[in-house]
Amino acid sequence: MSGYNRTAPAHPALGTTPPRGDRRIPAPSGGPRLREVTPVPVDFIPPAKPIIGDDEREAVDRVLRSGMVAQGPEVAAFEQEFGDHFVNGRASVAVNSGTAGLHLGLLAAGVKAGDEVIVPSFTFAATGNSVALTGATPVFVDIEPETFTLDPAAVEAAITPRTRGILPVHLYGHPARMRELSAIAEKHGVALYEDAAQAHGAALDGQPVGTFGEFAMFSLYPTKNMTSGEGGMVTVATPELARMVKLLRNQGMERQYENEVVGFNARMTDIHAAIGRVQLTKVDAWTQTRRENAAFLDANLQGVVVPPVADGARHVYHQYTVRVLDDRDGFVKALKDEHQVGAGVYYPIPNHRLPSLAPYAPGLDLPVTEVAASQVVSLPVHPSLSSADLDRIVAAVGAVAKAGA
Ligand SMILES: *Cc1c(COP(=O)(O)O)cnc(C)c1O
Repeated sequence: MSGYNRTAPAHPALGTTPPRGDRRIPAPSGGPRLREVTPVPVDFIPPAKPIIGDDEREAVDRVLRSGMVAQGPEVAAFEQEFGDHFVNGRASVAVNSGTAGLHLGLLAAGVKAGDEVIVPSFTFAATGNSVALTGATPVFVDIEPETFTLDPAAVEAAITPRTRGILPVHLYGHPARMRELSAIAEKHGVALYEDAAQAHGAALDGQPVGTFGEFAMFSLYPTKNMTSGEGGMVTVATPELARMVKLLRNQGMERQYENEVVGFNARMTDIHAAIGRVQLTKVDAWTQTRRENAAFLDANLQGVVVPPVADGARHVYHQYTVRVLDDRDGFVKALKDEHQVGAGVYYPIPNHRLPSLAPYAPGLDLPVTEVAASQVVSLPVHPSLSSADLDRIVAAVGAVAKAGA
């Protein structure tokens, strides 16, 4: 080591180590300056950022070293811990994606060709897709303007003799109106399910999402509030449903080569479960930070409509979604190009207008959904934001909103 200079070379122009974003190799000290220094770009604030640390890496390494990587003890432990953590100990079944979880949950609940399942159109396409994949018809209904979740009155108006169930989405991490929807489901003798893909830890009057429906699905995709890499968790109300989801996940087998029903391979690996188990120990702190970030944005943003929260609702801010009343797309572009703030639009095209799902909804008009799809902007709210980032977001939104006014 002697003679080796461990001090970082001085940056030729700034007299410091190269700032982030400047990828040129600095000239050796005293050597010629080869190029002019370009202005240092401001760091881009991404709309989402999965947090994967040494603990996750070590957990994966432990599984890899064991030589047993397919579904096994890590998955079983993850299911138990997830159920205890989020859904008051309800049985939970891990699968290889949230979409598979919805699909298998619906099949296990008996949804089949000829049935109708009421869903919002203002959601990720996986909600309607999973209904369509069972052979049933997704029936798209409108949302409430405040919370972007299913409008109970619209749901009741859409019930027919073929309605098998109602599948609300806790969109952006805000719980849907589960009390009203439960009452409607009970009154009409139909089932209630939950798409909780975005809502780990959300609750209504203290009751966690994932405990209202016959089954609920939580996604574990990297941009969700916690991740296993890819994956999903199905939480279920009864042991019979748990058994059926497990059968469908694994070729219809409980015992090897005694296939009872026609099933899939939707198994989670122990590698993914090991990541999920570590994330489970951190997700509450991340959610707390999301909520604090949201409170800061609520208090400081100007020129946009901040997201209301329903009475009794615990919002976990998978997205912090504002409305921009004028030229939403120009607003998003200016935030990105002029202020390096990554904002997202979830979702620009309602499901009933997608080429894939529109055939289920000929001539349908959902006015509240259409307006929302044209106005929503999700601002960064993830737990990696620094307070300087939050200040920048507020300043950027204010400047862009003012310029557009
Ligand atoms: C992410 C998501 C899904 C699907 O989950 P995957 O894990 O990506 O398959 C379903 N519904 C909603 C509302 C989602 O946000």
